[in-house]
Amino acid sequence: MTEANIGPLRQISVRSLPGLRTDLLVQADCGRQDATASLAHTTGVGVVYSANSRRRSRRKRYTECAAAIHFTQKRAPLADVLVDANLYTGSTRKPADQQPTQDWITFQRHHRLPWAMTDSGYCAASDTTGPIAILSAAGRMGDHVIAALPVASSWLTEDASTLRDAIDKYGVPVALMIEDEADPFDRRGAVSGLVEILRADTPVLLLRSDTAALGALAYGAAAAAIGVTSTYRHFYPKADNSFGREPQLSFLIPALLGYYLNRRFENAFRVDPTLDAWRCDCHYCNGNNLTWIANHVDPSGAAFQHSVAALSAIGQELAGVIRAGVSGPSAWTRRCLEACGHSNTIRTECDETWRAKKSLAEWVRSEPSNVTG
Ligand SMILES: [Zn+2]
Repeated sequence: MTEANIGPLRQISVRSLPGLRTDLLVQADCGRQDATASLAHTTGVGVVYSANSRRRSRRKRYTECAAAIHFTQKRAPLADVLVDANLYTGSTRKPADQQPTQDWITFQRHHRLPWAMTDSGYCAASDTTGPIAILSAAGRMGDHVIAALPVASSWLTEDASTLRDAIDKYGVPVALMIEDEADPFDRRGAVSGLVEILRADTPVLLLRSDTAALGALAYGAAAAAIGVTSTYRHFYPKADNSFGREPQLSFLIPALLGYYLNRRFENAFRVDPTLDAWRCDCHYCNGNNLTWIANHVDPSGAAFQHSVAALSAIGQELAGVIRAGVSGPSAWTRRCLEACGHSNTIRTECDETWRAKKSLAEWVRSEPSNVTG
């Protein structure tokens, strides 16, 4: 990618939230402000800072988030910033029936953020009163408030239309975050549930996501955030002891629209290093293959930079195709089919156990022309 391609990321979705400059954001721990703000400045993505889930002290949460906001406002003055209180994760998580606080909203307004997100608790499976409690509280907190809705994955697979109706009843923009031990959108029915929720008249954001963020934007999400590590690409169930585990090195393979462990990538790469799928044109890879990431002095930092820059570049391409008149769902379906094609080539040439991400087929099935045709 040349310097001319870098700059403010254009809007991908047909919907937007007033006050946000872009709809593609990156989600990171507020302690990673340095790398995150630099990347926001370079690629034009916005930022969602999550408070550190291991430190529940109220004072620390406010202090650390304020530091991340100030740093980013200085280093990347054009970047959109949102903050996530992150109280819905871990074994001592806040439950949904514990009301969001006005105090947290006031804090965000004080720091001149375009939108304030509620410090919501976790909405368990079938807890029908949970989302209602959050939505109604958010509705009483004034303008430019986003109701954070951290939900169990069954809200997508089994109760999507119930959730969509509740969202439209209260009319407050919502930020969905999905609990799952792995990628929630590889679960059967999760993509179609998300698409159903995105049909709401009220703006819906998808946070703590991976490449599904781009799919969500193609289907009309008002904004979407890609997590910098697996911890921020969904959130773990309470009983899952992988919560808080140090993540292994993984990064986006852009051609495949998925994150893969470096170990898996290297094993397949060694068999046939010439495949197009291993190359990346992002600002950091510059047309080279992805092996430089593990060899870098800071592999996780390199993985983070490459993944966000590559997703931002895919977002730019999608935005261009959509502006040229192709519908968002059709543009995304094309990308998913191309990614499946690359995965098939890897399976044939390198590794017979290699499979495309399950969610890609779910996205293809969700396209309106495929559903009705
Ligand atoms: Zn790259």
